[in-house]
Amino acid sequence: MEYDVIVAGASFAGLAVAAQLRGKRVLVLDRQPIGEGQTSACGTLVSTLQALGLEASIIQVHDRLVVHTPGRTFTYPMPEPFCTFDYPKLCQLLWEQTDAEFVQLPATGLDGGRVLTPHGDYAGRVIVDASGWRAALGASLRPNLVRRNRLNFGLETTQVYQEEGLHFWYDPRGLLPMGITWCFPIERFSRIGVGSYRGETRLLPTLDRFARALGVERNGLHGGYFPYALRDPIVGDLFLVGDAAGQCLALTGEGIRPALFFGTHLGRLLRRALDGQISLDEARQSYRRLVLARKRGYDLLTWCQHILPHMPLPVVRGLLALVSQPAVLQRVLSRYIRAFALAPTALTALESQRGGS
Ligand SMILES: Cc1cc2nc3c(=O)[nH]c(=O)nc-3n(C[C@H](O)[C@H](O)[C@H](O)COP(=O)(O)OP(=O)(O)OC[C@H]3O[C@@H](n4cnc5c(N)ncnc54)[C@H](O)[C@@H]3O)c2cc1C
Repeated sequence: MEYDVIVAGASFAGLAVAAQLRGKRVLVLDRQPIGEGQTSACGTLVSTLQALGLEASIIQVHDRLVVHTPGRTFTYPMPEPFCTFDYPKLCQLLWEQTDAEFVQLPATGLDGGRVLTPHGDYAGRVIVDASGWRAALGASLRPNLVRRNRLNFGLETTQVYQEEGLHFWYDPRGLLPMGITWCFPIERFSRIGVGSYRGETRLLPTLDRFARALGVERNGLHGGYFPYALRDPIVGDLFLVGDAAGQCLALTGEGIRPALFFGTHLGRLLRRALDGQISLDEARQSYRRLVLARKRGYDLLTWCQHILPHMPLPVVRGLLALVSQPAVLQRVLSRYIRAFALAPTALTALESQRGGS
């Protein structure tokens, strides 16, 4: 049997695609059960989760962002609240919005319209790679798609530590010369992490020292790579979304909102193509335009991430102080937030405009 859509990867991006395709024959493949394998601190905007009916996964709401530098701390009230959420629960809620089939198998490659796995292959009219930074299918078609020098790396532990707000530390002469550390509270606990802007993977000693500086010991470990440069969202006939398409943002490492945003848009475009309202080629063109419309923002953040470690600390502090001015903060954050705003009505309008153009 041929599926309408096969999605490789059952995390933020893949499930967001499948959630828009109820009533279609959709197969979702993942090497792990749905909701297992959390890699991230799971911090995102409350409004994003509300727009997708996922607010029941929220653990703690945060109204401020706090950036610590040696000798000075900056507190930024958020124009919109962020939250930390429960990853398995969010995946389960998204999965319940689909009526897709799930198979726990890794996708290992493509043969025309067939997705290969170690236990047979599956035919699909449309194939979506949402398998994270490795882009299992995209990279099988285009070996240089995943550039190792365009990957950040982070490690986290979850320990009893209560706080308010999302906290970042930038200390170029201290713990981590080319990266940041963070603490994202989840009620009685916090997700405490370190991230390297050079893709440095030997971060365990740094994580241990950072945890101890907060007065706690490491307790469990998760993490991995996250890309910081956009990749082509279409390779041959294949659609790529989320980290597979390099849609995680540089500097902030925010990849959940982009994965949900592009996944939802892509799912809706595919639904229109399967309903015969647009052709699959038009869906490809619309999707590519949607991504490219944000390329300047992506490039700006990539540039900021590259130059940050080369900037003297007083300059970094000066910039952080500038952004803390209410008018500047409002402007910067609302642009940053708006780029991936997921309002269901606005979304439909945007898609009609893109699909029809
Ligand atoms: C330490 C750390 C902390 C982070 N914190 C945050 C944060 O607080 N907020 C934020 O917005 N972003 C954060 N990020 C980034 C964020 O986690 C990613 O951008 C986001 O997970 C991307 O979602 P995705 O669905 O594209 O990919 P993923 O979440 O990586 O999911 C990929 C899915 O594909 C599956 N898969 C992999 N290979 C195959 C295969 N061959 N076949 C089938 N399935 C496969 C995996 O099992 C997984 O389920 C963090 C990242 C790290 C590493």
